[in-house]
Amino acid sequence: MVDSTRLLGHDMAERLRQGEVSSRELTLAHLDAAERQNHALNAWLLIDRDGALAQADAADARLAVAREEGRAALEALHPLLGLPVALKDLVSVAGGQCTAGSRILEGYVAPYDAHITERLRDAGAVILGKTNMDEFAMGSSNEWSAFGPVSNPWDLDSVPGGSSGGSAAAVAAFHVPFGIGTDTGGSIRQPAALTGIVGLKPTYGRVSRYGIVAFASSLDQIGPLARDARDAAVLLHAVAGRDARDSTSAPVPVPEDLLNLPSSDDEAAGWLKGKRLGLPREYFVKGMEPGVEARIREAVADLERAGATIEEVSLPHTDYGLATYYIVVPAEASANLARYDGVRYGHSVRLPGADFIADYLATRGEGFGPEVKRRIMLGTYALSAGYYDAFYLKAQKVRTLIKRDFDDVFGSGIDALVAPTSPSVAFKFGARTADPVAMYLSDACTLPANMAGIAGVSLPCGLSAGLPVGLQFIGPPWSELELLRFGCAYEAITADAPWRSLEPAQLALADDPVGPTPAQRAAALATA
Ligand code: GLN
Repeated sequence: MVDSTRLLGHDMAERLRQGEVSSRELTLAHLDAAERQNHALNAWLLIDRDGALAQADAADARLAVAREEGRAALEALHPLLGLPVALKDLVSVAGGQCTAGSRILEGYVAPYDAHITERLRDAGAVILGKTNMDEFAMGSSNEWSAFGPVSNPWDLDSVPGGSSGGSAAAVAAFHVPFGIGTDTGGSIRQPAALTGIVGLKPTYGRVSRYGIVAFASSLDQIGPLARDARDAAVLLHAVAGRDARDSTSAPVPVPEDLLNLPSSDDEAAGWLKGKRLGLPREYFVKGMEPGVEARIREAVADLERAGATIEEVSLPHTDYGLATYYIVVPAEASANLARYDGVRYGHSVRLPGADFIADYLATRGEGFGPEVKRRIMLGTYALSAGYYDAFYLKAQKVRTLIKRDFDDVFGSGIDALVAPTSPSVAFKFGARTADPVAMYLSDACTLPANMAGIAGVSLPCGLSAGLPVGLQFIGPPWSELELLRFGCAYEAITADAPWRSLEPAQLALADDPVGPTPAQRAAALATA
């Protein structure tokens, strides 16, 4: 009997239709794994056993009706029906918590479902719970969560990446086949890379942000985390598309072919023939780990052997990406976070005899963590009178230049760019928390796509020093289907690679119910 948690989502869907397994059985297996390992991993802020089982039973009822009606009815069922999904804890679920990893939202109850929550409910997916994250999605290691760090199942003393670290760890640890993340500068792709899974940042406007806690509104995008490209495509298809409640969600049709990615390796690999892949010179940055560079170069050689042409290209403004990102993003964050005033949401401090300004300052002083405060100060400064032109406006102009670099490359006939996702593999707890710039550099290869509003996907491409390396494909706006086809093709040509069959090296250790928690591991490393 195979352990159902090890299956890919599309295999689970197939078995549900065959009647080999029920959604209740699948859901129980995943709930058990999540509950058993959350002491060691801290990937989940909420595991909703009762809610998940009720959704599973509803899915089984739909399956039973379709089975009565016959084959056509079974095939018409949504591919996510009855399958477990993890939501990053900044996605609103009516009546449930939505902390965004922050004390300031503790006790806040979401009054409505996010657009993507509605979509997942319509599909009949089973929402297993809410996952840990860096506070307000600010971070690259999940160490800025107010609810403690998350361990990487490959090395429990290392971070899973961030800010969607909980969702990534949960997918990598087989607690769910599907996770939702958000990516403002890399927060889907970078944790996907560090935990050895697939993560896709869609084009800005592809997925409605209605009901998602806002961080930097001109960059935030919601996207899928999964264990292969086909599963990522199915989850993206379920949540993507125009929604009138988010004026930035685009009226661009969602390709139906996201549900028909090739299932045979030959067909998938065939897609590569004649495709032009650009290798951006500036992404092979100083400071990239040699093991990461080696895996990326091998992946590029594999793609070339399989029929793609590789051309070196230049994106000359790449170097300005980080500096401009850290003007634009804090500016937008400082405005978005102004609403947490102790009156309208969650945490609230009332000082006896004090006026409301004192209460406001105390609420924000207690409620926000250090990275959030840093961003609010940077952003408020960059937007202040006299500095707006010098910083914010200038950064927006440079942003246009970054976008133009991509336009030029794609305009010259390049189908997609190949690059590393992260310059390093997963790092130990504490390695970057004392140095904000070192932490910010984690996203040097991901954030340009956010600045330009375009799409990118990270796929596992082997190991360096025993830890996963992520290969990134970046494409023009609305190229998600093409990027996932590249993903499928790469998976096909490396299907027999020995690293593909490896499970996260320290996953079994996470079964220990009394061993150290991630916070204790981090504390031990800090004093070592
Ligand atoms: N690490 C980046 C930041 O802190 C990206 C975060 C994200 O994509 N949400 O801003």
